[in-house]
Amino acid sequence: MAYPKLSLLAGQDRRLRSGHPWIYSNELKMDAAAKALEPGTPVKVADVAGKAMAVAQFNPHSLIAARVLSRNQNATIDARFLERRLQRALRLRERLFDHPYYRLVHAEADGLPGLVIDRFDRTLVLQANSAGMDRLTPELLEAVDRVVAADHIILKNDSTAREREGLKLSVDVIKGESKGAIELVENEFAFFADPVGGQKTGWYFDQRDNRAFAAKLAKGERVLDLFSYGGGFGITALMAGAKEALAIDRSEGALELAKMAAARNGVDGKLTCLREEGFSALDRLAKEKQRFGLVIADPPSYVKSKRDLKAGLKGYRKLARTSAALVREEGCLMVASCSHNVPLDSFRDEVRKGISDAGRGGRLLCQTGASADHPSHPLLPESAYLKCLFYMLD
Ligand code: SAH
Repeated sequence: MAYPKLSLLAGQDRRLRSGHPWIYSNELKMDAAAKALEPGTPVKVADVAGKAMAVAQFNPHSLIAARVLSRNQNATIDARFLERRLQRALRLRERLFDHPYYRLVHAEADGLPGLVIDRFDRTLVLQANSAGMDRLTPELLEAVDRVVAADHIILKNDSTAREREGLKLSVDVIKGESKGAIELVENEFAFFADPVGGQKTGWYFDQRDNRAFAAKLAKGERVLDLFSYGGGFGITALMAGAKEALAIDRSEGALELAKMAAARNGVDGKLTCLREEGFSALDRLAKEKQRFGLVIADPPSYVKSKRDLKAGLKGYRKLARTSAALVREEGCLMVASCSHNVPLDSFRDEVRKGISDAGRGGRLLCQTGASADHPSHPLLPESAYLKCLFYMLD
């Protein structure tokens, strides 16, 4: 295709050659012609000698100025191209899971930069987080239609990532009727997600394996599921034989999903849901001298931008300290960070300090990330955003 050609500046081609999917604005020759391109325009990216290296989506207003779609400089970015990428993404998920509930597309790692698609059987929730993907939405919908027989398609375009790309925020049901909570299957148990009114795309599929692992530590125990959203951790633990679980979240809608799931799985008698602020709940439970055999602390992102790193790390330390204080002797603690701006080492250091601030010692059982339907791009450490640390405390 005759896409406009943009040139890398001298010496700025090494990262692209190594396979990195992004080109920053200071690496490209930003002349008037480049600046005049519509956000999201497909372009060819060439080295200083003029040799085309890749086809990318360009946004002159974003720090991440170009996102690579293909290393084939003759690629045409159309519905067929997208369909092939979607088919590849689908093949991986079908290999991983028996039930059609998963993240179908995880952006750069699936060769579709900026695009997220979560699948709830015949309901698809799409999020276009880059100008390029936003612009490709019509072709994308055509491709999606060929790959998955969906009755419902929701464009959940309300992420903060879109603001950084200069895109409008909106939530649109573009196929089927808008409906409330829908049922999903995860680790063989039933849960409810609310793709339109709920958080993110409606369900945090990334914690699937961590919920299953946590449940192994929960047999016969009291479990605290702090920042519970729809009760993924607490209910999986109850299904594995936990004695009781306490789900705490500040969102009433989230707790409603948890209550529905508990009833659906027949464990509503063992789940208590409380609407409360995370840190005040931790204080209250400590004052009441409550103890748990397993505490799950899975907060929202504390570090939304690099500027917040110091304050965010302090937050994780405090979270580790106050949740460790509620863990019984030989009980377990999981602390998670979903901030892509937080490196694993720093997170682990702060959590270790927090546990020690609580006067506790312990063993790190394992450090995990997101489930495999959220693959990460090998050259994009940011895409391995989720970090979970499981401890057993003395
Ligand atoms: N553990 C959940 C996902 C957690 S997402 C799961 O397995 O699905 C983070 C959750 O924290 C959201 O449900 C959000 O409503 C809640 N939340 C955000 N800030 C909070 C606060 N200050 N106190 C309590 N809950 C909070």
